[in-house]
Amino acid sequence: MEIIESISEARTIIRRIKNQNKTIGLVPTMGALHEGHISLIKESKKENDYTVISIFVNPLQFGPNEDFKKYPRPLDKDCKLAQASGTDLVFTPSADEILTDNPLTFVDINELGENLCGAKRPGHFRGVCTIVTKLFNIIMPDNAYFGKKDIQQLQIIKKMTNDLNFDIRIVPCPIIREKDGLAMSSRNNYLSEEERKNAVILSIALKKGIELFEKKETFSEMIIKELKNMIKTVKNADIDYVKIVDEKMKDVKIINKGNILALAVYIGKTRLIDNHIFGEKVCF
Ligand code: AMP
Repeated sequence: MEIIESISEARTIIRRIKNQNKTIGLVPTMGALHEGHISLIKESKKENDYTVISIFVNPLQFGPNEDFKKYPRPLDKDCKLAQASGTDLVFTPSADEILTDNPLTFVDINELGENLCGAKRPGHFRGVCTIVTKLFNIIMPDNAYFGKKDIQQLQIIKKMTNDLNFDIRIVPCPIIREKDGLAMSSRNNYLSEEERKNAVILSIALKKGIELFEKKETFSEMIIKELKNMIKTVKNADIDYVKIVDEKMKDVKIINKGNILALAVYIGKTRLIDNHIFGEKVCF
């Protein structure tokens, strides 16, 4: 496995791989790797001759009062995990390397980015789209792997890829969870022991939402109200949003299969997100 920081070295390697007519899979991450990331790497390994993971804590996608500075950066451990899961190249550019001096060009998306996390984190998806575009241009993958854990991001990347004519297949991957149902996340590292126990409320709330839908409750408002009441009973839990949206990220009143129940909840100071697509297999 190679570990590369510079764009020009990455390009040289990618050229070599392309000249060998090999397919390339890209897994963009911010590091602090866990089983969720590893599942994306494994999917890429299955489908491609060569798997690249990028590790870059992207300053453009953090708001001024968010956790950019304290975001975990265990690079050595990440590289060991990446190697053990069969990664061929870790691309880990510095901010100076990938963000040009005084950049004037950004990639942004309308509508899809205006609800849920986009509404709560202004500029977040502009930061994501800009960096993912750069990664696509540098690595030029055939396939790129994104988790359904960040469902709004996934929908946005799919649309951006299509709108900008990237010749890249976007592959959605299932949410990987801890045994108790908590979706794996690098931010789970922030949780104290007590907060970790309380964090399971996100998946408990999702399960309740699924159960209500299965019992033929189709009014969003009813499900949202019930879940909010449940979450409010948990110590240190502060709701950022509980919403049910369609695949264009628009709120829906009457729920249909394919609609998405999405949550963002602060547990103490840690903001966690989770979601379920109604009608999809329940994996927890
Ligand atoms: P991050 O490092 O948090 O930016 O995530 C990098 C990629 O891993 C994104 O496509 C995420 O959606 C995906 N990911 C993060 N957590 C999980 C999880 N628990 N299950 C599946 N994919 C995940």
